[in-house]
Amino acid sequence: MRMMDTARSDKLFERAREVIPGGVNSPVRAFASVGRHPLFVERAEGARVWDVDGNAFIDYIGSWGPSILGHASPVALEGIGEQALKGTTYGLPTELEIQMAEQIVEAFPGMDMVRMVNSGTEATMSAIRLARGFTGREMVVKFEGCYHGHADQLLVKSGSGALTLGIPTSAGVPGESTRNTLVGSYNDLQGLEELFRNNGGRIAAVIMEPVPGNMGVVAPREGFLMGVRSLCDRHGSLLIFDEVISGFRLAYGGAQTVYGIRPDITCLGKIIGGGLPVGAYGGRREIMSRVAPAGDVYQAGTLSGNPLAMRMGLQVLRHLAKHPEFYRELEEKARFLEEGFGANLRRCGVEAAVNRVGTMVCQFFAKGPVETYRQVMESDTKRYAAYFNRMLEQGILMPPSQFEALFLSGAHEERMLEMTVSAHGKAMETLAEL
Ligand SMILES: *Cc1c(COP(=O)(O)O)cnc(C)c1O
Repeated sequence: MRMMDTARSDKLFERAREVIPGGVNSPVRAFASVGRHPLFVERAEGARVWDVDGNAFIDYIGSWGPSILGHASPVALEGIGEQALKGTTYGLPTELEIQMAEQIVEAFPGMDMVRMVNSGTEATMSAIRLARGFTGREMVVKFEGCYHGHADQLLVKSGSGALTLGIPTSAGVPGESTRNTLVGSYNDLQGLEELFRNNGGRIAAVIMEPVPGNMGVVAPREGFLMGVRSLCDRHGSLLIFDEVISGFRLAYGGAQTVYGIRPDITCLGKIIGGGLPVGAYGGRREIMSRVAPAGDVYQAGTLSGNPLAMRMGLQVLRHLAKHPEFYRELEEKARFLEEGFGANLRRCGVEAAVNRVGTMVCQFFAKGPVETYRQVMESDTKRYAAYFNRMLEQGILMPPSQFEALFLSGAHEERMLEMTVSAHGKAMETLAEL
């Protein structure tokens, strides 16, 4: 395998570290868990990304979700220059915001109204404030391994895998902030029942990724989502689906459409901005009517509903709405990788499990099946790092962490997928020798 020249990236990283904490503006970009320095990007187009040293890669990071039509998509970019010339932010409402809200509300069964924000973090944080305001209760349940952005109250997991009170996983988060956060285990309905038994009347909401994509990809067990829904109903708690990844990715109407479960509040982000910074939260009219200025739950944003972001996001969503076959094709691509990877693993005798839920796929270096956070955490991250680097040397950019999904796009062509499976085969051959 060729040795990659990364001299320019390395130099930029050195410079970046002087003025940006860790040299990056979001931790996963540092490539720390794959034991190397980050690649600095020169440009990207379709499913390809070029670094500043001129190396080209087939990209499975896809900006961690937003780039569902591929990078620099002509659909997303159409008319963006003109739009910018009309001014890029006003602090006054535009018709684009109504069009965006109508588009989203039509797609998601659980939403009658929606409020735009600027990131997924803002969406989940605001959804929780709303759930608390609406129910007049303070406690929130989240699941281990589900990521909901970096708001204080959600930066919690359970250390032991047991069902315990939330302990902050970051410095700077007061215990006070997470005192009302309970942690459950994804796919463990009995555990959740116990949480409700002990705290039932105090739980404002359960927040979850219906299909987790932040501990790799994990599928909900038969009946799990329905079980969560009915526990919430029985105890008068709201169900919040964080569909920041799965919304417009798993299906046009997200996981709630695929599984036929109606959450009370839905959080969106990533894809809906078409590549610009956007988030949104929405739900039943009765609940959303509590958001200011209609109601008493305060939430605001200077750049919320930004006209450039609305225009770009709307163009992508409209394209997806017009092309239902897009999701069938995306799923075919995911299946192609799943089957190709699986065949390579069997041929080389490497122990790993490939999880796929529809269009979302990832490979764990674990025995499998991988259905719980505990099983996810048994993955061999050193092996993943070796795998990542072997793929990178062959021109394939996998997510630089074992615990991330592969982000496919409409721009991933068949021959790129074939190259990926072939590179994966070579990587598995060398891993088998380790
Ligand atoms: C990315 C993500 C978030 C946070 O979104 P940001 O835009 O990074 O703040 C929240 N929830 C889920 C499920 C995500 O994947």
